Amino acid sequence: MPNIIDGKAIASTIKTEIATEVKSLLDQGKPAPHLAVVIAGEDGAALSYVNSIEKQCKGVGYICSAYKFPANVPEKDILATIDFLNSDDEVDGYIIQMPLPKQVSIDKVVAHVDPRKDMDCFHPVNMGNLLLGKDCYAPATPHGVMELLRRSNIDTTGKECVILGRSNIVGKPLSMMLLHKDANATVTVCHSRTKNLKRVCSRADILIVAIGQPEMITADYVKEKATVIDVGIHRIPDPAQPNGYRVCGDVKFDEVSKKCEAITPVPGGVGAMTMACLLQNTMKAYKSRQ
Ligand code: NDP
Repeated sequence: MPNIIDGKAIASTIKTEIATEVKSLLDQGKPAPHLAVVIAGEDGAALSYVNSIEKQCKGVGYICSAYKFPANVPEKDILATIDFLNSDDEVDGYIIQMPLPKQVSIDKVVAHVDPRKDMDCFHPVNMGNLLLGKDCYAPATPHGVMELLRRSNIDTTGKECVILGRSNIVGKPLSMMLLHKDANATVTVCHSRTKNLKRVCSRADILIVAIGQPEMITADYVKEKATVIDVGIHRIPDPAQPNGYRVCGDVKFDEVSKKCEAITPVPGGVGAMTMACLLQNTMKAYKSRQ
């Protein structure tokens, strides 16, 4: 049986560490860290992520302010909210939940973000610092993948790491983090135009999949005894389930898990870590502001 990497348990340990730190801050009469979230529209997954942020913040003792707008919110209202959050001394950091409605320009939004409060690494200054290996707020999901590997004692030094997906929020930043001298991996990044995808993936000691394609990665993509990290998350119809759907990743877990050395499940793998790492970033912003 492979080692099932329990993201939920690791995330829970991180949250306990954070809650202990918050308690100590409060005991010293200091304010609690404060995370804000800006969301516009009715996207179900985005709303449930924001609800979860509010709940998790409460769980560790943070203050959370959610700025929720309807889908037809004028762009200027979103920009004004960001300006307000930048200047609000009580807010340590914030995220702007995607997707934004089409009338709101992402470029304008990013230009308004203060890099010191940018908990999702949207701003080019933070992305640039990430590329240079300098201290920054790493985007939560790649940060979560790195924490999962580290806390599961999976050494990346000298390993062939193949990342499937080149998005700005997962694949690209993760490739930089694995390349840095604290990780020392040999990194290959694949995308929809990569030729011989199976052959490239079969080289991987560590295969990280973030393509948004439910269960596309089958056992024939995976080397014997590889470590497989599945970032994908999907709800797919399943009449056999009482609620009519099941949650799965980009990896076909049942067959891949028989071949690999270690694997993250979905749910309970990377997803749980994303939230924990967002909370970690908020603590970091709090400390640097204090
Ligand atoms: P994007 O859609 O932004 O990027 C997908 C990437 O995968 C692109 O680079 C695309 O290539 C590549 N790709 C798509 N299809 C294929 C294919 N058939 N073969 C090879 N490459 C392919 O996705 P995200 O990075 O935002 O998210 C990826 C997955 O991770 C999604 O399932 C998402 O829900 C999940 N996710 C989970 C999070 C969590 O907390 N667990 C957080 C963020 C995302 P190209 O660039 O050529 O189009």
